[in-house]
Amino acid sequence: MNKALITGISGQDGGYLAEYLLGLGYEVWGLVRREPASFHWLEPIRHRVEFVYGDMRDAESLGVAFQKAWPDEVYNLAGQVFVPTSWEFPAETFDINVGGVARLLQIIERTKPDTRFYQASSSEMVGNFEGVMNERVPLRPTSPYGVSKLAAHRMVEVYRARKIFAVGGILFNHESPRRGPEMVTRKITRAAASWVRGNHSPLRLGNLDARRDWGFAGDYVRAMHAMLQISEPQDFVIGTGESHSVREFLQQVLESLKELGVGSRAPRSIEEWVQVDPRFLRTGEIHDLRADASRAKADLGWQPTVDFKSLVRMMVESDLKSAESSTATV
Ligand code: GDP
Repeated sequence: MNKALITGISGQDGGYLAEYLLGLGYEVWGLVRREPASFHWLEPIRHRVEFVYGDMRDAESLGVAFQKAWPDEVYNLAGQVFVPTSWEFPAETFDINVGGVARLLQIIERTKPDTRFYQASSSEMVGNFEGVMNERVPLRPTSPYGVSKLAAHRMVEVYRARKIFAVGGILFNHESPRRGPEMVTRKITRAAASWVRGNHSPLRLGNLDARRDWGFAGDYVRAMHAMLQISEPQDFVIGTGESHSVREFLQQVLESLKELGVGSRAPRSIEEWVQVDPRFLRTGEIHDLRADASRAKADLGWQPTVDFKSLVRMMVESDLKSAESSTATV
């Protein structure tokens, strides 16, 4: 049986990947920093996952976790993922996002060099670029987060040159009902559900014109796995190829509320609902991100299955349900 170690298993992608790998018959190990108060979506699969403790900043704890799991594949999904936080804590972001990768790769090389390594690289590495982005575009990040992801990506390349099977999945934004509430999509869908429940305070957002290539996280974990099954390691861009603005996301949320039968309790317009708050505007803003995932399509047979409209609806529906159940239990 194949064994996989997932760092960041309690995050959005970790949960989807664990479910997917269990379905494929893997023995799944999850690295956690501490016992989380609640594993949320991991609850249904909790008894099927082996948890090990470790901190990306602490080589010794990672070494012990690795020895216990002795994995065939490592999926490095742990990290400080929020761009604004990386401006507040640039050095810590670097230590976790880059140091953590360096520590893991060194452990692999020294103890079990046939272990395959997946690194969660990011479209934020690209920075501002006109047009669709493939694996060959120049990388010019504009935030400490983007720089940390680029450094980690380069670390993967140098270990690959030393014959470690290591790949960087350059994933564009991917969302789901499990997305962290600080990210713009989830912030919006949660606020929409709250408005429908009667809380009519304005939703404060930053740049409504920023465009992102938003896909469904459940689709993207299939690509992660596929990247470790090919014969020669290389990097892949993963995305839908379409970008939408934050304003279009808001508009689609209003459409979904109508479709879900709660249009009469929804905000009548974006203007009634949203206030632009300069506190959420960003230095080094990336204006538009759009993926060209043709290499992944050709070499991995990967394609997204959830389009923008269905993704928004899925997130709105889920947040409406949790808003209902949380009011019902008070
Ligand atoms: P990112 O692409 O990894 O930074 O993902 P985010 O979901 O945090 O942000 C996506 C885009 O939404 C960025 O261009 C932000 O500037 C924009 N945005 C506008 N208002 C907000 C907000 O209130 N919160 C967040 N997180 N992003 C916002």
